[in-house]
Amino acid sequence: MIELIVGREEGKEQPRLAVTSSGKTSYFGEPGSVPKEVSRKHCRILLEDDLSSMSITDITDNNFMYVNGQECKSKGHLTLDCTVELSPVRYSLDLAAILRVFTSGQAFHIAHLYHIYQGYHQGKIDYQVKQNRFNALSAIPGVLSMSSIGLSFAMNDQTIRMVMIIIAGLFGIVFAIIRIMNAGKGPNFLRAMDERFHDEYVCPNPLCGRFLGSWQYKDLIKGKACPFCKSKYIE
Ligand SMILES: [Zn+2]
Repeated sequence: MIELIVGREEGKEQPRLAVTSSGKTSYFGEPGSVPKEVSRKHCRILLEDDLSSMSITDITDNNFMYVNGQECKSKGHLTLDCTVELSPVRYSLDLAAILRVFTSGQAFHIAHLYHIYQGYHQGKIDYQVKQNRFNALSAIPGVLSMSSIGLSFAMNDQTIRMVMIIIAGLFGIVFAIIRIMNAGKGPNFLRAMDERFHDEYVCPNPLCGRFLGSWQYKDLIKGKACPFCKSKYIE
């Protein structure tokens, strides 16, 4: 659990926003950007280490807070895309900038990405294998009609040839029907698989969430960090 105390910088004519966590204070914004209506200790933000949940509480009863434009009385639940404003003059908090600073040392587990990566690539291989098998089966009518010529010649029997050609024709029709019926299925299946991969194979840091598709799982583990936000990765 990370606790952030948010308020106006102390002892300065031109205060910035001061955010303190475990004794370490960072400052945000230009000097003088924080109005005097924002208290020195205005609110407390509590967040889970993996940023999975976050809440805001005011520190004294008369500090005004607004979450997504609505007045938040004493405690509110926050998500990363919430707008947060402090005091009646509605000083707007840059939540993402603050969280980036205080969660930069945070490590994220990425073992689940291994299964997503493997599942996607195995899925593509399985699809290709299925496709290859079907293509091999589709060659049956051609093989049957070709061999019917030799067979009827060797056995001196035209009936065998006729029967084989009819069978080959039936096979040909069945394969053609299967092909027509499945014409759209393959591309749609592949597209859905690509989209799912795009949504799931992403940086687990919710402040980043970028698609990691150009990186193989083993490279992410080797690099031990997100190539975009530099969050630490552990297995
Ligand atoms: Zn990232």
